[in-house]
Amino acid sequence: MTHDLLLRNVRPFGAAATDMLIRDGRIARIAPDLPAEPELAEEPGGGAILLPGLVEAHTHLDKSLWGMGWREHQAGPSLRDKIDTERRLRKEWNIDPERQSMRQALLSLGHGSTAIRSHVDVDTETGLAGIEGVARTREALQGLVDIEIVAFPQSGLMSRPGTLELLDKALSGAADVVGGLDPCGIDADPKGQLDAVFALADRHGKPIDIHLHEPGELGAFSMEMILERTRALGMQGKVTISHAFCLGMPDRDRARALVADLAEARIHVATVATPSRPVPLAEDLRAAGVTLCAGSDGIRDTWGPYGNGDMLERAMLLGLRNNLRADSDVEHALWCCSWGGAHVMGLEDYGLEKGCRADLVLVEAESVTHAVVSRPPRRLVLKGGKIVAREGRSLREAP
Ligand SMILES: [Zn+2]
Repeated sequence: MTHDLLLRNVRPFGAAATDMLIRDGRIARIAPDLPAEPELAEEPGGGAILLPGLVEAHTHLDKSLWGMGWREHQAGPSLRDKIDTERRLRKEWNIDPERQSMRQALLSLGHGSTAIRSHVDVDTETGLAGIEGVARTREALQGLVDIEIVAFPQSGLMSRPGTLELLDKALSGAADVVGGLDPCGIDADPKGQLDAVFALADRHGKPIDIHLHEPGELGAFSMEMILERTRALGMQGKVTISHAFCLGMPDRDRARALVADLAEARIHVATVATPSRPVPLAEDLRAAGVTLCAGSDGIRDTWGPYGNGDMLERAMLLGLRNNLRADSDVEHALWCCSWGGAHVMGLEDYGLEKGCRADLVLVEAESVTHAVVSRPPRRLVLKGGKIVAREGRSLREAP
């Protein structure tokens, strides 16, 4: 089924008002005063800003508590406490990955995210149930939102025998990306974990996205091992480091040298712009040419009560965290939440030019920066030219 549509009076990324014709799910013409055609649906834009579909490039669809009523948060202070609490509550609270991923994906779609990269837990207790649940949601939402699944060994890889085999199985099935985390801090076996992760990626021909919370020199040590393996296997452009807190270390020269190495190996960085931890500086990455994408991370899960899936809000948080004030800098924060994520996910024909897929968001604002700081409800969201959300809510009802 094709979705032809004439969008009237819209401003692509804040440019002058124009009309946009969408044919067969793609942007076919951009010009003012395009002629009306019988049978061609029209949508008035009212001079609103047109953005490409936003990209939620780092989240955990399988573990949100969205729609389950408010739950008191009780996760302990350490990373290990949070991981163990989560494994326990997953059973006690019946956090069903299929239902919860559907709820969160539709929430995000209402806010204009048309593509999502989700890390999904794989461990010896849950097995592949999380992956299978999110895969069913992906299937059910085909044509509404693109979902990429990272097989994520949240509870450890080398320290939990049996997890490696499960990851291998996940990658033979629904998983698109090999995950990893804190090879020193969680597994205390950086060589073991990283060799295993890169071997899986090499064997399955799939990209890598590693959570790296390790701070300072410890994180830098792991990062150097990731760099080494990326070069050795020719995986330039196919590796993402999520969080990369070590790049927020006080020694700016050391951090910049690491950023230069990331640029050379074409390794991407995903950030949440968390206010509570050191984070990689957006300006350093931008200056070096490292692609920075952004995500919500966990939304209302057992780790914490925050998050709402709004990538305009994430752009604002990125701006606040990096002290971005000039409009052009705030626009770059939004770039990270759109083009940056699309680049990392390898989305083809992404953008606002003729020929691009018509994944579009209409938001009422005077400028792009105004949209980021005021975050009005998304008036319209299109996926492949089809209207999938209006006034901040997806047209598909959540379970
Ligand atoms: Zn995460």
